[in-house]
Amino acid sequence: MSATKEAKIVVVGAGFAGLAAAATLVRAGFQNVQILEANGRVGGRVHTTRPFSQNIIELGANWIHGQEGNPLFQLAKEHGLLVEGVSASKVMCLPRSVTPRDYFFRQGGRQVSTESVDQVCSLFSKLTSKAFESELEDKHRALSLGSYLDAAFAESPLAASEDGQRLFEWCKRSECTDEASSSLYEVSASQIGYYIALEGGFFNSLGPGGYQAILDILLKDLPSEIILTNKAVKSIHWDLKEQLQANEKGGLNHPVKLICEDDGVFEADHVIVTVSLGVLKQQAGTLFKPSLPKSKLTAIEQLGFGTVDKIFLCFNERFWPEDCAGIQLVWDEGPEDKSVYTSHSEGEAWKETWYKKICGFDSVARHPTVLCGWITGREALHMETLQDSEVGDACVRLLRSFTGWSVPDVSKVLISRWGLDPQVLGSYTFVPHNVNGVKEHEALAAPIPFQNKIPESKPLQVLFAGEATHVNFYTTTHGAYMSGVREAQRLITHYTTKTVTS
Ligand SMILES: Cc1cc2nc3c(=O)[nH]c(=O)nc-3n(C[C@H](O)[C@H](O)[C@H](O)COP(=O)(O)OP(=O)(O)OC[C@H]3O[C@@H](n4cnc5c(N)ncnc54)[C@H](O)[C@@H]3O)c2cc1C
Repeated sequence: MSATKEAKIVVVGAGFAGLAAAATLVRAGFQNVQILEANGRVGGRVHTTRPFSQNIIELGANWIHGQEGNPLFQLAKEHGLLVEGVSASKVMCLPRSVTPRDYFFRQGGRQVSTESVDQVCSLFSKLTSKAFESELEDKHRALSLGSYLDAAFAESPLAASEDGQRLFEWCKRSECTDEASSSLYEVSASQIGYYIALEGGFFNSLGPGGYQAILDILLKDLPSEIILTNKAVKSIHWDLKEQLQANEKGGLNHPVKLICEDDGVFEADHVIVTVSLGVLKQQAGTLFKPSLPKSKLTAIEQLGFGTVDKIFLCFNERFWPEDCAGIQLVWDEGPEDKSVYTSHSEGEAWKETWYKKICGFDSVARHPTVLCGWITGREALHMETLQDSEVGDACVRLLRSFTGWSVPDVSKVLISRWGLDPQVLGSYTFVPHNVNGVKEHEALAAPIPFQNKIPESKPLQVLFAGEATHVNFYTTTHGAYMSGVREAQRLITHYTTKTVTS
């Protein structure tokens, strides 16, 4: 064992990024690794629960996105955690893979024909693929994703029919779930091409243990004393030159000190910060002393971090047909309409109609009497402030008025509140219109101090991981995992090089 492997490393946060970083370091032989986690549980935005029965409900991440090159898919496969053949669209309500068995209803109870749904959804899929595959025409490159889609759709004959237009709005609202945005007018059309969708789709669902089963595999590799839960870090003091000078006379020689909310103090040679972009947006100003370099603060400000929430409705009996994979709501107008969204004169009126942001209710695997509604952006944040019962009642009213079916009262309601969760403050990252995503993701990922600026400082004092730091796989669990491995590897390389050259 090399002496350098005794370096003190503190990881802040026990989501996929933090756990992957710690597991990689421990596997490489580092003996002084500690994870400080603010919450009483590990997993972060992965939260597998069992609120209705012994079967799982995922309040956070649900799908493994892509197979080839996806380390979490590999891990799940190796450990027999996958169930084949479940379509993602059933839970994610994605237009790109929408199944014909979704029932689409216009306001007022008219069902939209499957043919219209298929035509519009497949056009929408084609248009978004152009953006994802960086094949946009020049005239569209500078636009927001919403404006590009509007312009491209206007050229299609489908735009001539009212059903076509309304379905297209549904597609856009549904796409907001993927982009974690209030509206696609907030999202860059051209930058989305840097996000890489791994081959293999996401047709492999996790088995009955859900995402928790993958977390458990990582946890098995970590000695339990490594993780301290209920340990919120209040401040990270880096580049402690005064302390270093004093300590050079015969004490510890750690350039970083962490102070926790409970006044616990930890010293470290390296800290890997994995807190969400939402937490950084709120706390970067107070969390780091001295303050972060300007390029980092700019990245934190520029990148978008939106809210996506799930609304689980548990009924005593199933009222929707067996072949109905989801009940999709095609609004006559709503928050995604450009005029409504971009109008500054609207004030707070949108709060009264927050439920118009719900694009539909999907059936839930292993729960025949449960539906899952999806809501994003500012309307999701507003919904989080309401009582569960109020949200449940609003959803039942929607289901009754759109379908005309006899919908019973809901028996249990469970909603996620990722936007108000103080340890997350949102759901995942997107690249806003007019922002250079690659530049900002890279700036966020860069360790400090920057060696070219402060050559006398100890290197790699504070490193950054987490989904928001990944240029190509931001928003995903595998992006988070890979970013943790990346930062652990950065330290492993640093010490390997040091050992070789000394
Ligand atoms: C509703 C929803 C659905 C999603 N669906 C999918 C999906 O289907 N597939 C997919 O791939 N991804 C999905 N995601 C995204 C995925 O969950 C995240 O990208 C990933 O889990 C992020 O991991 P992370 O380690 O970067 O951050 P986190 O999981 O947020 O971990 C950061 C940790 O830091 C802790 N922390 C915060 N502040 C402090 C502090 N001061 N001191 C100590 N600890 C602190 C937090 O408590 C947290 O545990 C979804 C997310 C949400 C919210």
